[in-house]
Amino acid sequence: MDIKKNINLFNREVTSLGGRLIAVGKTHPPEKLLEAYQAGQRIFGENKVQEMTGKYEVLPKDIAWHMIGHLQSNKVKFIAPFVALIHSVDSFRLMEEIHKQGKKIGRIVPCLLQVHIAQEETKFGFDENELYSVMENPKTSDLDFIRIDGLMGMASLTEDKEKIRSEFRHLKTIFRTLSSRKRPANIMMTELSMGMSSDYKIALEEGSTLVRIGTAIFGERG
Ligand SMILES: *Cc1c(COP(=O)(O)O)cnc(C)c1O
Repeated sequence: MDIKKNINLFNREVTSLGGRLIAVGKTHPPEKLLEAYQAGQRIFGENKVQEMTGKYEVLPKDIAWHMIGHLQSNKVKFIAPFVALIHSVDSFRLMEEIHKQGKKIGRIVPCLLQVHIAQEETKFGFDENELYSVMENPKTSDLDFIRIDGLMGMASLTEDKEKIRSEFRHLKTIFRTLSSRKRPANIMMTELSMGMSSDYKIALEEGSTLVRIGTAIFGERG
Protein backbone atom coordinates (compact mmCIF):
# COMPACT_ATOMS: atom_id res chain seq x y z
CA MET A 1 0.00 0.00 0.00
CA ASP A 2 1.23 3.49 -0.82
CA ILE A 3 -0.14 5.11 2.32
CA LYS A 4 0.86 8.66 1.41
CA LYS A 5 -0.74 8.41 -1.99
CA ASN A 6 -3.90 6.94 -0.48
CA ILE A 7 -4.14 9.73 2.09
CA ASN A 8 -3.85 12.34 -0.63
CA LEU A 9 -6.40 10.67 -2.89
CA PHE A 10 -8.94 10.04 -0.14
CA ASN A 11 -8.63 13.50 1.34
CA ARG A 12 -9.21 15.06 -2.04
CA GLU A 13 -12.22 12.89 -2.79
CA VAL A 14 -13.83 13.03 0.66
CA THR A 15 -13.34 16.79 0.95
CA SER A 16 -14.80 17.40 -2.49
CA LEU A 17 -17.91 15.51 -1.37
CA GLY A 18 -18.27 17.62 1.76
CA GLY A 19 -16.81 15.29 4.39
CA ARG A 20 -13.67 14.84 6.46
CA LEU A 21 -11.45 11.77 6.44
CA ILE A 22 -10.67 9.74 9.55
CA ALA A 23 -7.74 7.40 8.90
CA VAL A 24 -8.47 4.19 10.82
CA GLY A 25 -5.10 2.71 11.78
CA LYS A 26 -6.26 -0.04 14.13
CA THR A 27 -3.94 -3.08 14.22
CA HIS A 28 -1.33 -1.17 12.18
CA PRO A 29 1.89 -0.07 13.90
CA PRO A 30 2.64 3.60 14.69
CA GLU A 31 5.19 3.76 11.84
CA LYS A 32 2.38 3.24 9.33
CA LEU A 33 0.31 5.96 10.93
CA LEU A 34 3.32 8.26 10.84
CA GLU A 35 3.47 7.84 7.06
CA ALA A 36 -0.10 9.06 6.88
CA TYR A 37 0.76 11.90 9.23
CA GLN A 38 3.65 12.92 6.99
CA ALA A 39 1.20 13.12 4.10
CA GLY A 40 -0.76 15.66 6.13
CA GLN A 41 -3.33 13.44 7.86
CA ARG A 42 -4.27 14.70 11.34
CA ILE A 43 -7.44 12.76 12.24
CA PHE A 44 -6.95 9.12 13.23
CA GLY A 45 -9.47 6.54 14.41
CA GLU A 46 -8.90 3.60 16.73
CA ASN A 47 -11.31 1.06 18.17
CA LYS A 48 -9.43 -0.07 21.29
CA VAL A 49 -8.54 2.09 24.28
CA GLN A 50 -5.16 0.54 25.00
CA GLU A 51 -4.05 0.72 21.39
CA MET A 52 -5.15 4.33 21.10
CA THR A 53 -3.39 5.48 24.28
CA GLY A 54 -0.22 3.65 23.20
CA LYS A 55 -0.21 5.39 19.83
CA TYR A 56 -1.13 8.73 21.40
CA GLU A 57 1.99 8.48 23.54
CA VAL A 58 4.43 7.86 20.69
CA LEU A 59 2.95 9.90 17.83
CA PRO A 60 2.89 13.71 17.31
CA LYS A 61 0.70 15.63 19.72
CA ASP A 62 -1.30 17.54 17.11
CA ILE A 63 -3.15 14.38 16.06
CA ALA A 64 -6.90 14.35 16.73
CA TRP A 65 -7.72 10.88 18.09
CA HIS A 66 -11.20 9.52 17.43
CA MET A 67 -12.50 6.53 19.38
CA ILE A 68 -14.72 4.58 16.99
CA GLY A 69 -15.06 1.21 18.75
CA HIS A 70 -17.25 0.00 21.57
CA LEU A 71 -16.18 1.72 24.79
CA GLN A 72 -16.48 0.19 28.25
CA SER A 73 -17.32 2.56 31.08
CA ASN A 74 -14.30 1.56 33.14
CA LYS A 75 -11.94 2.64 30.34
CA VAL A 76 -13.30 6.13 29.75
CA LYS A 77 -10.82 7.63 32.21
CA PHE A 78 -7.85 6.60 30.06
CA ILE A 79 -8.95 8.57 27.01
CA ALA A 80 -10.97 11.46 28.50
CA PRO A 81 -7.90 13.73 28.78
CA PHE A 82 -7.07 13.73 25.08
CA VAL A 83 -9.72 12.10 22.88
CA ALA A 84 -10.99 14.49 20.16
CA LEU A 85 -14.27 12.68 19.53
CA ILE A 86 -15.89 9.49 20.83
CA HIS A 87 -18.12 8.12 18.05
CA SER A 88 -19.41 5.09 19.89
CA VAL A 89 -21.51 6.33 22.80
CA ASP A 90 -24.29 3.78 23.02
CA SER A 91 -25.92 4.10 26.44
CA PHE A 92 -27.02 6.73 28.93
CA ARG A 93 -24.81 5.07 31.52
CA LEU A 94 -21.78 5.63 29.30
CA MET A 95 -22.80 9.27 28.81
CA GLU A 96 -22.89 9.68 32.59
CA GLU A 97 -19.44 8.13 32.97
CA ILE A 98 -17.93 10.35 30.25
CA HIS A 99 -19.43 13.39 31.98
CA LYS A 100 -18.04 12.23 35.32
CA GLN A 101 -14.52 11.74 33.97
CA GLY A 102 -14.65 15.03 32.03
CA LYS A 103 -15.72 16.88 35.14
CA LYS A 104 -12.85 15.39 37.15
CA ILE A 105 -10.28 16.88 34.78
CA GLY A 106 -12.24 19.97 33.73
CA ARG A 107 -12.51 18.96 30.09
CA ILE A 108 -15.69 18.83 28.00
CA VAL A 109 -15.53 15.59 26.01
CA PRO A 110 -16.97 15.72 22.47
CA CYS A 111 -19.04 12.66 21.52
CA LEU A 112 -21.42 11.20 18.98
CA LEU A 113 -24.32 8.93 19.81
CA GLN A 114 -24.09 5.62 17.97
CA VAL A 115 -27.34 4.61 16.34
CA HIS A 116 -28.27 1.07 15.43
CA ILE A 117 -29.29 1.24 11.76
CA ALA A 118 -28.22 -2.13 10.33
CA GLN A 119 -31.06 -4.58 9.88
CA GLU A 120 -29.24 -7.86 10.08
CA GLU A 121 -26.38 -7.79 12.51
CA THR A 122 -26.74 -7.00 16.15
CA LYS A 123 -24.55 -3.97 16.48
CA PHE A 124 -24.14 -1.61 19.38
CA GLY A 125 -26.13 1.57 19.44
CA PHE A 126 -29.30 3.36 20.44
CA ASP A 127 -32.45 2.70 18.50
CA GLU A 128 -34.47 5.65 17.28
CA ASN A 129 -36.85 5.80 20.22
CA GLU A 130 -34.05 5.53 22.76
CA LEU A 131 -32.43 8.54 21.09
CA TYR A 132 -35.56 10.61 21.48
CA SER A 133 -35.69 9.55 25.13
CA VAL A 134 -32.14 10.81 25.64
CA MET A 135 -33.15 14.18 24.16
CA GLU A 136 -36.16 14.37 26.44
CA ASN A 137 -34.46 13.09 29.57
CA PRO A 138 -34.13 16.06 31.96
CA LYS A 139 -30.90 14.49 33.27
CA THR A 140 -29.20 14.90 29.86
CA SER A 141 -28.71 18.66 30.17
CA ASP A 142 -27.02 18.14 33.56
CA LEU A 143 -24.19 16.25 31.85
CA ASP A 144 -22.32 19.42 31.02
CA PHE A 145 -18.92 17.81 30.63
CA ILE A 146 -20.11 15.81 27.65
CA ARG A 147 -20.98 17.49 24.37
CA ILE A 148 -22.93 15.54 21.78
CA ASP A 149 -21.89 16.75 18.33
CA GLY A 150 -24.05 14.38 16.30
CA LEU A 151 -24.62 10.75 15.36
CA MET A 152 -22.67 7.72 14.13
CA GLY A 153 -23.95 4.63 12.39
CA MET A 154 -22.79 1.53 10.55
CA ALA A 155 -24.70 -0.01 7.66
CA SER A 156 -25.26 -3.75 7.25
CA LEU A 157 -22.36 -5.79 5.89
CA THR A 158 -23.88 -6.56 2.53
CA GLU A 159 -23.22 -6.20 -1.18
CA ASP A 160 -26.69 -4.74 -1.58
CA LYS A 161 -25.94 -1.09 -2.29
CA GLU A 162 -29.56 -0.04 -2.12
CA LYS A 163 -29.93 -1.54 1.31
CA ILE A 164 -26.81 0.29 2.51
CA ARG A 165 -28.12 3.51 0.98
CA SER A 166 -31.49 3.18 2.66
CA GLU A 167 -29.87 2.57 6.06
CA PHE A 168 -27.67 5.67 5.71
CA ARG A 169 -30.67 7.65 4.48
CA HIS A 170 -32.61 6.53 7.51
CA LEU A 171 -29.84 7.78 9.81
CA LYS A 172 -29.76 11.10 8.00
CA THR A 173 -33.51 11.40 8.50
CA ILE A 174 -33.12 10.82 12.24
CA PHE A 175 -30.29 13.38 12.26
CA ARG A 176 -32.53 15.93 10.55
CA THR A 177 -35.40 15.25 12.91
CA LEU A 178 -33.17 15.78 15.93
CA SER A 179 -31.65 18.92 14.38
CA SER A 180 -35.06 20.47 14.01
CA ARG A 181 -36.19 19.71 17.55
CA LYS A 182 -35.63 21.57 20.77
CA ARG A 183 -32.55 20.03 22.38
CA PRO A 184 -30.59 20.29 25.63
CA ALA A 185 -27.76 22.87 25.37
CA ASN A 186 -25.06 20.18 25.35
CA ILE A 187 -26.46 18.53 22.24
CA MET A 188 -25.36 19.97 18.88
CA MET A 189 -26.21 18.26 15.65
CA THR A 190 -23.35 19.08 13.32
CA GLU A 191 -21.55 15.79 12.63
CA LEU A 192 -22.84 12.65 10.98
CA SER A 193 -20.27 9.84 11.04
CA MET A 194 -21.04 7.17 8.49
CA GLY A 195 -19.13 5.27 5.84
CA MET A 196 -16.08 2.99 5.78
CA SER A 197 -13.84 1.57 3.02
CA SER A 198 -16.61 -0.35 1.30
CA ASP A 199 -19.44 2.16 1.51
CA TYR A 200 -17.99 5.65 2.03
CA LYS A 201 -19.15 6.94 -1.35
CA ILE A 202 -22.76 6.07 -0.65
CA ALA A 203 -22.40 7.53 2.85
CA LEU A 204 -21.11 10.85 1.50
CA GLU A 205 -23.90 10.98 -1.07
CA GLU A 206 -26.34 10.52 1.80
CA GLY A 207 -24.89 13.35 3.86
CA SER A 208 -22.01 11.96 5.90
CA THR A 209 -19.60 14.55 7.36
CA LEU A 210 -17.03 12.07 8.71
CA VAL A 211 -15.92 8.86 6.98
CA ARG A 212 -13.86 6.24 8.81
CA ILE A 213 -11.52 4.52 6.38
CA GLY A 214 -8.99 1.84 7.31
CA THR A 215 -8.41 -0.98 4.84
CA ALA A 216 -8.47 1.19 1.72
CA ILE A 217 -5.67 3.34 3.14
CA PHE A 218 -3.49 0.96 5.18
CA GLY A 219 -4.30 -2.39 3.57
CA GLU A 220 -5.82 -5.53 5.07
CA ARG A 221 -5.51 -6.02 8.80
CA GLY A 222 -3.39 -8.97 9.87
C1 LIG B 1 -12.48 -0.76 11.55
C2 LIG B 1 -13.58 0.24 11.52
C3 LIG B 1 -13.74 1.09 10.42
C4 LIG B 1 -12.87 1.02 9.18
O1 LIG B 1 -13.19 -0.11 8.44
P1 LIG B 1 -12.51 -0.39 7.00
O2 LIG B 1 -13.45 -1.34 6.36
O3 LIG B 1 -11.18 -0.99 7.27
O4 LIG B 1 -12.42 0.90 6.29
C5 LIG B 1 -14.76 2.01 10.45
N1 LIG B 1 -15.58 2.11 11.53
C6 LIG B 1 -15.45 1.33 12.61
C7 LIG B 1 -16.39 1.50 13.75
C8 LIG B 1 -14.46 0.35 12.64
O5 LIG B 1 -14.33 -0.43 13.72
